[in-house]
Amino acid sequence: MEQIKYIIKERSGKVVIPDNPGFGLLFTDHIFEMDYSPSQGWHNPTIKPLENLSFHPASMVLHYGQAVFEGLKAFRTDDNQAVIFRPQKHIERLNRSARRVCIPELDKDFVMEALKELVSIEQDWIPAKRGEALYIRPFLIGVDSVLGVRPSVKYKFIILLSPVGAYYPEGFKPVKILVTDEYVRAVRKGLGDCKTPANYAASLLAAEEARKKGFTQVLWLDGIEQKYIEEVGTMNIFIHFKDEIATPKLTGSILAGVTRDSVIHILKDWGKNVTERLISIHEVVDAYKNGNLVGVFGTGTAAIISSVGSLTYKDTNMVFNNGKVGELDKKLFDTLTSIHYGQIEDKFNWLTHLSNKGVEV
Ligand SMILES: *Cc1c(COP(=O)(O)O)cnc(C)c1O
Repeated sequence: MEQIKYIIKERSGKVVIPDNPGFGLLFTDHIFEMDYSPSQGWHNPTIKPLENLSFHPASMVLHYGQAVFEGLKAFRTDDNQAVIFRPQKHIERLNRSARRVCIPELDKDFVMEALKELVSIEQDWIPAKRGEALYIRPFLIGVDSVLGVRPSVKYKFIILLSPVGAYYPEGFKPVKILVTDEYVRAVRKGLGDCKTPANYAASLLAAEEARKKGFTQVLWLDGIEQKYIEEVGTMNIFIHFKDEIATPKLTGSILAGVTRDSVIHILKDWGKNVTERLISIHEVVDAYKNGNLVGVFGTGTAAIISSVGSLTYKDTNMVFNNGKVGELDKKLFDTLTSIHYGQIEDKFNWLTHLSNKGVEV
């Protein structure tokens, strides 16, 4: 692979991150960008100042959604080191998503190098406060200017960085979830297990309607029978039964969350009975009615752990822990964040330090 080119902007003064940066509103000074053409492959890797992209109005990504993305985080540990959480896992998923929508895959080691280089150059933008992080958004888009439907020939790969605030600025609060059988997010053998824009377009209306009714998000059911639970918003879901912590198995319509995987590892390490299987919404309702349901929580990079205070399915309203944060949810949140900020041992080797190559097991 070619050497990365650097076009670095002189910074006028120190980086100042505002007190509550919100989520995805603020961007750092530089991006990483690289191009693809069939004759040159991936080429022209450059770290350069953030500026608007310029596209032909016929660019394929704008019409047919040929795009995939990732979302991961860099943290500043308590001893002031910059670390990235499980980047290898995210890069592998980016390539898996790319394959499904005919985007040429990237060299994993090179992407890791680019990621570390960019974050390293922008490391003053990594917030130090607990709960805050530098959100990393790599994405791939097809940029041919042709209106015929086919895979693009030319592509761009870009990494964008955004300092983000605590997902729960007022503290860890439970969310209210509506189970929807009006809409489906994805179907098996479709795009559900790829991080691709189409899935998010499919989810907007259901989420908006739920929000208007006072819910935070929706819980999606499977696309065929609307019977099995799948995901909550853009998070994976876990059902905490009395004697089991179950999460929907990866049937093809569910995104394989990195946080989901981390939580499974942690729970197993704690000796819990964790399972990945089909879970019908009726099983959840029955368990609730029989007193066998302890709680429900979601997992994802943005919120880490989201405690579900209530779940509403048709006319059944299930309330967990009196609408307060569940004990297990809090413990998982605290454990994951303690790993992020280097406060407890990184026993699974999930942190990649900028200065040396992280090896994940
Ligand atoms: C990103 C995402 C998740 C969570 O994945 P993480 O790797 O844990 O961030 C879950 N579901 C959907 C649909 C997502 O887009």
